Amino acid sequence: MTTGEKWVYMFDEGNKEMRDLLGGKGAGLAEMTRAGLPVPYGFKVTTRACIEYLETGTFPPGLREQILEALRRLEERVGKRFGDPTNPLLVSVRSGARASMPGMMDTVLNLGMNDEVAEGMVRLTNNPRFVYDAYRRFIMMFSDVVMGVHRERFEELFQEKKRELGVTQDVEVDAKSLKELVEEFKALYQREKGEPFPQEPLVQLFRAVEAVFRSWNNPRAVEYRRQNKIPHSWGTAVNVQMMVFGNMGNDSGTGVAFTRNPATGAKELYGEFLQNAQGEDVVAGIRTPMPIARMREVLPEVYEQFVRFAEQLERHYKDVQDLEFTVERGRLYMLQTRSGKRTAVAAFRIATDLVDEGIAEPHEALLTVDPHLFEQLLHPQFDLQEKAKHPLLATGVNASPGAAAGRVVFEADDAVKMAQEWGRVLLVRRQTEPDDIHGMAAAQGILTSIGGATSHAAVVARGMGKPCVAGCGALQIDYEKQQFTVEKDGKLILVRRGDYVSIDGTTGEVFLGDIPTVPSEVMQVVTGRMRPEESEIFQRVSRVLQWADEYRALGVRANADTPRDAMLARRFGAEGVGLCRTEHMFFGEERIPKFQRMILAETREEREAALADLQPFQQQDFEGILEAMDGLPVIIRLLDPPLHEFLPQTEEDIQNLSAKIGIPAERIREKVRALHEVNPMLGHRGCRLGITYPEIYRMQVRAIYEAAAALKKRGLNPVPEVMIPLVGIVQELEVLKEDLTQVAQEVLQREGVDLPIIMGTMIEVPRAALTADEIAQHAAFFSFGTNDLTQTTFGFSRDDAEGKFLDEYITKRILETNPFEVLDRRGVGELVKLGTQRGRQANPNLEVGICGEHGGEPLSVAFCHEADLDYVSCSPPRVPIARLAAAQAQIRQPRQRRRKSPHEAKGGLL
Ligand code: PEP
Ligand code: MG
Repeated sequence: MTTGEKWVYMFDEGNKEMRDLLGGKGAGLAEMTRAGLPVPYGFKVTTRACIEYLETGTFPPGLREQILEALRRLEERVGKRFGDPTNPLLVSVRSGARASMPGMMDTVLNLGMNDEVAEGMVRLTNNPRFVYDAYRRFIMMFSDVVMGVHRERFEELFQEKKRELGVTQDVEVDAKSLKELVEEFKALYQREKGEPFPQEPLVQLFRAVEAVFRSWNNPRAVEYRRQNKIPHSWGTAVNVQMMVFGNMGNDSGTGVAFTRNPATGAKELYGEFLQNAQGEDVVAGIRTPMPIARMREVLPEVYEQFVRFAEQLERHYKDVQDLEFTVERGRLYMLQTRSGKRTAVAAFRIATDLVDEGIAEPHEALLTVDPHLFEQLLHPQFDLQEKAKHPLLATGVNASPGAAAGRVVFEADDAVKMAQEWGRVLLVRRQTEPDDIHGMAAAQGILTSIGGATSHAAVVARGMGKPCVAGCGALQIDYEKQQFTVEKDGKLILVRRGDYVSIDGTTGEVFLGDIPTVPSEVMQVVTGRMRPEESEIFQRVSRVLQWADEYRALGVRANADTPRDAMLARRFGAEGVGLCRTEHMFFGEERIPKFQRMILAETREEREAALADLQPFQQQDFEGILEAMDGLPVIIRLLDPPLHEFLPQTEEDIQNLSAKIGIPAERIREKVRALHEVNPMLGHRGCRLGITYPEIYRMQVRAIYEAAAALKKRGLNPVPEVMIPLVGIVQELEVLKEDLTQVAQEVLQREGVDLPIIMGTMIEVPRAALTADEIAQHAAFFSFGTNDLTQTTFGFSRDDAEGKFLDEYITKRILETNPFEVLDRRGVGELVKLGTQRGRQANPNLEVGICGEHGGEPLSVAFCHEADLDYVSCSPPRVPIARLAAAQAQIRQPRQRRRKSPHEAKGGLL
């Protein structure tokens, strides 16, 4: 910790580049304040102060003093005083992390309120109802968020009061009753905490700041970060801001709006406004508000002003903004601007529109698209014919697009449990709360009966890429009976827990039954079932990816084992195959018995005969893949897994195999025993097999070059490259390379074809990275197999780690993220860098790529860019993700080394 560190910034200090320190909300407030927009003034406490607090359990030295000083400046600026009944300042205290985490952390409004201030405010406003409503809200929020007295306890008292009065709506509770309620709330607090409700505003403030710090670690926030791969080490900033009141009458109100429609991307203000209400009412989805366009009717001038601010902010940020505002007695105040979460369809529409409207340049628009959105774009949708056969139950707000069907559950915990048993579940709630996110994650989709397009359910579902229909008011949900009813055409339809329901988040429709799905529009174009010009979304995606290709420095290849996958990969824009795993080719029904016979052979002759039988199959596959990737490199990896994986393990399967291939069961059993390994991951696999059974690799190399020769004779341009797996000792590579080069030469000579023989290796064990200088002298290329390299660097076996302890490691923050998903920069990443540098020093022409699953994960792609690799290779559907992520990496942090020929990937559709 630095002494004398600046922990507190006023709103006009800082800018949008300071998100890391001030949080997204804080940086946005700074920008808006400096741009002269009407923002209630305030100050923000840095994320670093939060981290210090969480580490030590106390405020870092200087923080308290800096808060007091900032408060003094706030008072001076707004001309009100904290705790002064004659001219009171009330503040909100809100969290605001670097990345938006909607509803995950805590907020306290109306802070600074106490008995005296309340009385003073009554005199000032002449509106006791407003004042006591604000006070009772404050007691409830403070008790809940800061002191852990659950808000439901207060809600019960409120309900009881309404029953006594014989009313149902909050607004019907009069001033006198609200004042009584304040006393009852304070009494409840005293009973629960054994101390009176704190009346001293400064005590309230410091406790609230601490509570917001702590809320960074509440279970739902931790879970949200886990799902969204947000590091736990970031911490949250705290924003302290003068309160403005949306609940001062019908010329007041509060709202949230996106500058464009976050579901479709259409250029229209999209959001909601609630007259005479405080912000929490909208965000929590407790009351159903009016669409923002109707604000034009009720407050026309304010509406026009808001439209102007919205446009100004969008131009300034060059991206869609998610805005929060409050109107206090006809005056508009801006409370938040941040980049808006959006669906995949919206993201591509917005990115292309921003460029067409001259708001952003392509490189700026590229940064507005989250690469993960491709997953959503390729999601299946309802089969329209099947959809027509199912009765429409009801329609709600189309809050997050996509089709989902599943069996109905009503509780988040139940969703998690039944998803395991039933497979697909649909979570149905009146509304969701931050505590429900694990259930939302487990469900196929979410259906709610209350709340609109900016309710919690909607925002979180969009973030997760899950379909959601919100505010479907026709649903009468009964949690006790675990069922809901819908009245339709005078009949009551009953849906019980476990019944199938389908929702279309794109249209807002809810259907009875289980509607089958079909591939998405983009998938249909890529697979040739639809023409590109028929699909608007496809065309927009394709424009974005073409921009990406102009920027990116990293090459992108695909991992493909079949001609079909190779074709698909090429259409997705892959510039070659970075990994073809040949073992998958031994599995088909006709092939596996031949391979098994090879394993069970007792002599080399027998083994060679079995292999010769297999060669045509392998050759045929190679021809298909090389043809699909004509003109582009195809890296073919020789056999990698241990042989026991190809033999049956149970007695029954052994008997069946024996009958099928005519080898006595005892011989099979004996072989299975002989091949048994204590730790197969570190066992007899990879090049170790190649060294002990050279005839296997020889057959594979023959098949590769026979295939290439055949294509060459047909006038094509195959570019095969042979990859030797799991090398850790340079001699392994030397021995194999010498032998296999000779085999390849023999084939090429016999066929009379001229083709370069390119051989390289995978770097999958730490020793290979450390001795990369030696290995590179015998390799044309390195491909980092980061799946194995992660296993061997950590000493984790992936299956055991993921099944047994990795989750707990992440929950307990021993690891930030799963290193099998996001490349571990500190350890594995260092080996990748070191291996690359040492390898290139020894062999300047060495080509270096990565083919582990990290090759399609955006954060890891950014790492590969920084580590100066030549390309990444990933599964075909992740090729577009990698293209975009690579472009973003280059835009954020340009580097020298560019991929060789940007436009070599002819035949790409996307
Ligand atoms: C790797 O280890 O990263 C790799 C690509 O090989 P495999 O996943 O087939 O072991
Ligand atoms: Mg491997």
